[in-house]
Amino acid sequence: MNECWLPDEYIGLETDRLVERIRSHKRRLGDDLVILGHHYQRQEVIEHADFRGDSYGLSKTAAEQEARYIVFCGVEFMADSARILARPEQVVIHPDTSAGCPMADMADSTGVERAWADLEDVLGATDDVIPLTYINSDVGTKAFCGRHGGAVCTSTNAPRAFDWAYSRGGRVFFFPDEHLGRNTAWNKGIRGEQAVLYDPALPLGGLSPERIRAARVFLWKGHCHVHTHFTEEMVKLAREQDPEVRVVVHPECRREVVDAADADGSTSFIIDYCARAPAGSRILVGTELNLCRRLNLEHADRSIEALDRSICPNMWKVSLNDLLWSLDRLGEVNVVRVDPGFREEAGLALERMLSI
Ligand code: 13P
Ligand code: SF4
Repeated sequence: MNECWLPDEYIGLETDRLVERIRSHKRRLGDDLVILGHHYQRQEVIEHADFRGDSYGLSKTAAEQEARYIVFCGVEFMADSARILARPEQVVIHPDTSAGCPMADMADSTGVERAWADLEDVLGATDDVIPLTYINSDVGTKAFCGRHGGAVCTSTNAPRAFDWAYSRGGRVFFFPDEHLGRNTAWNKGIRGEQAVLYDPALPLGGLSPERIRAARVFLWKGHCHVHTHFTEEMVKLAREQDPEVRVVVHPECRREVVDAADADGSTSFIIDYCARAPAGSRILVGTELNLCRRLNLEHADRSIEALDRSICPNMWKVSLNDLLWSLDRLGEVNVVRVDPGFREEAGLALERMLSI
């Protein structure tokens, strides 16, 4: 049985004891175990990761591993993607299976199919519409993309994925993050009436047939609350206080925030941006707080702070206690399984992401 809740005996264990026991499992298992950690994981958890990365990097890493056990410290859609990309005989483990992603939950395959039918009704056919899903999505919506000639993308390769899609058709249907979709389209000059918001709660997505016909990208109405927390005012205020400050944000932020910032990009881009900044510089970072804190610790010769405190509660859920429990009962608890009905088509869309 795949138990869900951390047993009582793991609650209240001293950190030193947890660390010692996790290290001992790692020594014992050697090459049979690999631990992957997303950049938003807590510091004490990421310290045990053999590989750190953003969503794109960790998907690629997961697909390349030889280890029998792959433990993914991140959120559900990441562990699911690793499960699909790993070989069938490998065991993928997610230390807290309740760590989901609210943005991923904003679209499901039923809603996306309904939207597709709307587009088909108005356009007559969907042959020139290429569906792209952000990796922050469930397996069913990834399978939808696989089935309809589309692909998965991440914030790292979204610009390339858009180019890929436009080389195949005249329109992109992007879900579930309107902001990443809008920011990517904007940089390609697709703006205004060419980039329309499709609201799944409204008939025809809240769009007129004329607006659908004129559009080059349909943006599903969805967002990440961790990144929409940042505002243009925060950036303006920071610049008033220090005109020399540099601001770098994640493209899940609103358009006006990205516009007001000096640069935007995936978590790996942000890490690189901070690493390349000259000593003595001051940088404000608009992304999840755990990464901002780590950047601050890793660059003592420059000032790196969060633009504001914004934490992802789901990333935070994965604890040392969960990790130890998963290692103590390796292959028995927190094993990731994906719906076999979606696996093949979702895999196709993920493979396309890696090959774009
Ligand atoms: P990246 O890792 O692609 O930068 O995405 C950030 C994120 O929101 C993960 O949940
Ligand atoms: Fe989801 Fe946002 Fe958390 Fe990423 S940071 S897991 S997109 S809620």
